[in-house]
Amino acid sequence: MCGYASASLSGVTFADLMKQLEHAMQKYNGEPFVKIYTSGSFLDENEIPKEIRSATFERFGNAERILFESRPEYITKDILKTIPKNATIALGLESSDPEVLAVSIKKGFTPDESKNAGLMIKAAGLTVRTYLLLKPLYMSEKDAIDDAVSSVRFASEYSDEISVNPVNVQRNTFIERLWKKGDYRPPWIWSLIEVLKRCTGTGVRVMSSPSGGGTQRGVHNCGECDKDALDAVERFSFSQNIKDLNANPCKCRGKWSEIMASEALLGTASDVMRTIDNDLAIGK
Ligand SMILES: [Zn+2]
Repeated sequence: MCGYASASLSGVTFADLMKQLEHAMQKYNGEPFVKIYTSGSFLDENEIPKEIRSATFERFGNAERILFESRPEYITKDILKTIPKNATIALGLESSDPEVLAVSIKKGFTPDESKNAGLMIKAAGLTVRTYLLLKPLYMSEKDAIDDAVSSVRFASEYSDEISVNPVNVQRNTFIERLWKKGDYRPPWIWSLIEVLKRCTGTGVRVMSSPSGGGTQRGVHNCGECDKDALDAVERFSFSQNIKDLNANPCKCRGKWSEIMASEALLGTASDVMRTIDNDLAIGK
């Protein structure tokens, strides 16, 4: 599912990274929240040399908060000692179900390894953001919702905030092939709203800022109500007020419930609606 392999370059040099950092500094106007987006692990020295890491921390030393992501294997007591206190470390847990993590995502670590990293980060006095993946491969819409809800509960024990990321179909990936054949549909925005609704009251900030939202490759509804529904998600992500999740009702909401029932009956995770539409079109 991850587009990282095809989106990354192997020939990036130390000088390139330094130049990129200086370029960012030219545009930086003292904003309080800085997000370092590497797509990989900021603490992996094969990706980001130690010197670039410390230069980055130094440049943004006055920010209230600096956020970067890492796989759990790079979180060690020694590394944590070198990280400034304004840091939030993001952990891509994706799912708290060991089977989903191993089979659907092939993540290469267990939920407990992510949790232990989270507990170490907390013990070092830093904050934790956990990323979850909504509707990875081979999961029906309903299973995906249930999985995300239990993952939020699992991660809320050691996270300061949890971000639910619906799958966005990346180019040159296996999921793209399934999606093109109609064997995969990215999640509905109604499902994302359902997850957020069911996760209030955990005491942890739960949010979502979907990439590709409202497009065929990203989280989407019928097309007519997508903007309204995504606006509701955005409002809630800031306010944490469940009332903000009340998007305008749309006729596709009923269809969404029916699809979930059909998937369960048929035992399939493929794009049921698209199959039906195709069959109708062929019937004509
Ligand atoms: Zn709709």
